[in-house]
Amino acid sequence: MDTQPTASHYIGGRPTEDTAGAPLVSFYPATGAEIARLHAATPAVVEQALSAAETARAGWAAMTGSERGRILRRAAEIMRDRNRDLSILETMDTGKPLQETLVADAASGADCLEYFGAIAAGLTGEHIPLGADFAYTIREPLGLCVGIGAWNYPTQIACWKAAPALACGNTMVFKPSEVTPLGALKLAEILTEAGLPAGVFNVVQGFGEVGAALVADPRVAKVSLTGSVPTGRKVYAAAAAGMKNVTMELGGKSPLIVFDDANLEDAVSAAINGNFYSSGQVCSNGTRVFVQKGILPSFLDRLKARTEAATIGDPLDEATNFGPMVSEAQRDIALAYIAKGVEEGARLVTGGGAHALGGLFLEPTVFAEVTDEMTIAREEIFGPVMSVLAFETEEEALARANATEFGLAAGVFTRDLARAHRVVAAFEAGTCWINTYNLTPIEMPFGGVKASGVGRENAHAAIDHYSQLKSVYVGMTPVEAPF
Ligand code: NDP
Repeated sequence: MDTQPTASHYIGGRPTEDTAGAPLVSFYPATGAEIARLHAATPAVVEQALSAAETARAGWAAMTGSERGRILRRAAEIMRDRNRDLSILETMDTGKPLQETLVADAASGADCLEYFGAIAAGLTGEHIPLGADFAYTIREPLGLCVGIGAWNYPTQIACWKAAPALACGNTMVFKPSEVTPLGALKLAEILTEAGLPAGVFNVVQGFGEVGAALVADPRVAKVSLTGSVPTGRKVYAAAAAGMKNVTMELGGKSPLIVFDDANLEDAVSAAINGNFYSSGQVCSNGTRVFVQKGILPSFLDRLKARTEAATIGDPLDEATNFGPMVSEAQRDIALAYIAKGVEEGARLVTGGGAHALGGLFLEPTVFAEVTDEMTIAREEIFGPVMSVLAFETEEEALARANATEFGLAAGVFTRDLARAHRVVAAFEAGTCWINTYNLTPIEMPFGGVKASGVGRENAHAAIDHYSQLKSVYVGMTPVEAPF
């Protein structure tokens, strides 16, 4: 498959190049082979993208919601038709197994385009009766939006930001992570093919400073970032200086609480999905697995046996269900945390280091006897490292689950429905699951509380973060004045 794009950027409806930008190389994580050589955006490219998005703004906002929606839905169909090619590209850019990318990446991007394409025509204000007078609200786009993505779900993140923004009549400049530059370029091409006017969705490549330049520009009305908490703090502060709207989808250290009465196999499945999918590089992962003492021995037995049955190898082989890390940097971070876990006295149940395949492959790793103050239980690892912590009572588990600066997600496994709802009501987290984990359908709002973020992506909730209301009071009666 030809993985080299025509050009590094996509601006004003066409591929755009400026070879003066710093080289930006994409590697296939499974082999280290170079798959694309691009250039970071120069200040001239950043300006070109912002001015294309600014110029396209009025025309796009003036179109009806149904016209905008039709284009998004057409793009969803094209994405579905090309799912296999897009999935192979995503696998080569990220190293995630094709078994995953075939169902989770372009496919969820298409769901998102379809969802916001379908509701675009129904986005309205409201009529407010006030006796003889009345008021109404007009739902307006915010204007020029900037999207900045992380490297774990490059295509999905681009769609999660572009689709609601465009449905509401905004334009966007999107900057992918420099580690995974390819998926967003494909989205831009597909949107053009579906009929999107030039300049409505633009992609510029680059490192953090390109993102920072976009965020600082006075023409930008809104910034949506998916990234780590430290980057989120910087981007939020820069956006605040310009009083811009923000959506922040940041990191987590989410709890998954398994009670004694849980369905054992389901709880083990959820712990596997919530720690080892995408080699653990998922923000909402339930990396602190609190297991009640009665079920703990059988939980660990099944977890060890099933984890050791993972098929690790070539991500392009559809039988593979566990691939390499995305980069050397991320592999080394995960290895350092594993070493820290051993050093601080956690018990290694399985895994514990580099996989025999070498390169960026790690073993899926489970630690038991983890305590709350250990580094592996407090910091986001973003790798295949699960911490299992024992607990006795519901009250204790909840207090410990909430004792973190993060608040992205949380899950509970129990057959006691009253307890399940009581526990999720007490979780300090934006996205919760009962008797399942990590499912994020487009119909359900997704996002975090506390340090994990601001705002919500997906569902109707995203509309409030990509539009603003103008209130209009209409006087129907004579105007009274005191003098
Ligand atoms: P980073 O925070 O390092 O980077 C995120 C994006 O921000 C990248 O495109 C990066 O560019 C860019 N960036 C970096 N510095 C700045 C700056 N000063 N101004 C503007 N943009 C900047 O995250 P990673 O890419 O390493 O992704 C991993 C993190 O993302 C994890 O912590 C994870 O939890 C979080 N995440 C959150 C999700 C959520 O929905 N809550 C989903 C997925 C991931 P560059 O990479 O080129 O430096």
